Amino acid sequence: MRGWEKNVRKVVPYVPGEQPALENLIKLNTNENPYPPSPKVLEALSRMDGEKLRKYPDPASSRLTRALAERYGVAEDQVFVGVGSDDVLGMAFMTFFNSEKPVLFPDISYSFYPVWADLLRIPYETRKLDENFTIQKEDYLTENGGIVFPNPNAPTGLLMPLSEVEEIVAANPDAVVIVDEAYIDFGGRSAVPLIAGYDNLLVVQTFSKSRSMAGMRIGFALGQAPLIKAMSDIKYSYNSYTMNLPSQVAGVKALEDEEYFQSTLKKVIETREKAKTRLSALGFTFPDSRANFIFAKHKEKPAEEIFQALKERQIFVRHFNQPRIHDYLRITVGTDEEMEALFAFLEEYL
Ligand code: PMP
Repeated sequence: MRGWEKNVRKVVPYVPGEQPALENLIKLNTNENPYPPSPKVLEALSRMDGEKLRKYPDPASSRLTRALAERYGVAEDQVFVGVGSDDVLGMAFMTFFNSEKPVLFPDISYSFYPVWADLLRIPYETRKLDENFTIQKEDYLTENGGIVFPNPNAPTGLLMPLSEVEEIVAANPDAVVIVDEAYIDFGGRSAVPLIAGYDNLLVVQTFSKSRSMAGMRIGFALGQAPLIKAMSDIKYSYNSYTMNLPSQVAGVKALEDEEYFQSTLKKVIETREKAKTRLSALGFTFPDSRANFIFAKHKEKPAEEIFQALKERQIFVRHFNQPRIHDYLRITVGTDEEMEALFAFLEEYL
């Protein structure tokens, strides 16, 4: 061992889904939106004056912050923006999860949570989903150092009713509750309206899924001003220029095109609902997803085999080799044509 190695911070990193550099692949593995961003975004990017890149971007992302405040009906000092919701969540972990008591999150959930907790040396405990993969709200009514869960949950797609989210937030006035709403636009009721009533609620969302901009890296958090101030203090103690200029411009333009946003959502939701019928007919069972993916298990064929067979046909889905969920495939909702290609293959293969 080299001398410096004993001082290296050891981590087990998060493993992102594959981004294969292949042409003509069908990519249903990372919950991206199959439709392009709004034409207004593309136009603004093509018109961008490259000379502006000479200067640092606005460290506060003021125009994007204002646009988000308007869109979500909150004040500007209730908005925090970051480089994708991963950046926002990581910053929130660093800011709010600083207790000796354990942070709580579900055992089957976004696999980045334990990675941040380990990196930042935050004690945590997972709470088991029930046999139907439902989050048990009672599990979050015990003493804790903070709570985080996705709603809808990933990778199950199951939505927690807003009344239960509120019960958890109300029962934990001394801890920050982070609701990770990466997939909320695909059919759930957001907790944003609860912000006014609870000073311990932080709602995190992203432009990566419903706004088709995973490549732009835009995420944001909404919460009462003291929460946002605490996060900003951490941000300015770490990296003040997180959001680059093209992302700030593109984010504003995306918010200006509500009509495009709604029409894209509608298409993804319709395709998801049709996919449920087709998957059932093929012998799959799955929790009733409200996200842009379906977490499905076949009645006979092991998930790993289906995963490999699909991959050979350049159809990428996600398989997690983990206890309790290794029988499942997480299939992102693509276009109707992409889903048709998936079903055509499965009909022949199964
Ligand atoms: N939360 C959940 C539940 C997710 O599935 C993802 C996507 N991997 C993220 C947050 C982060 O997405 P992004 O950083 O692209 O906003």
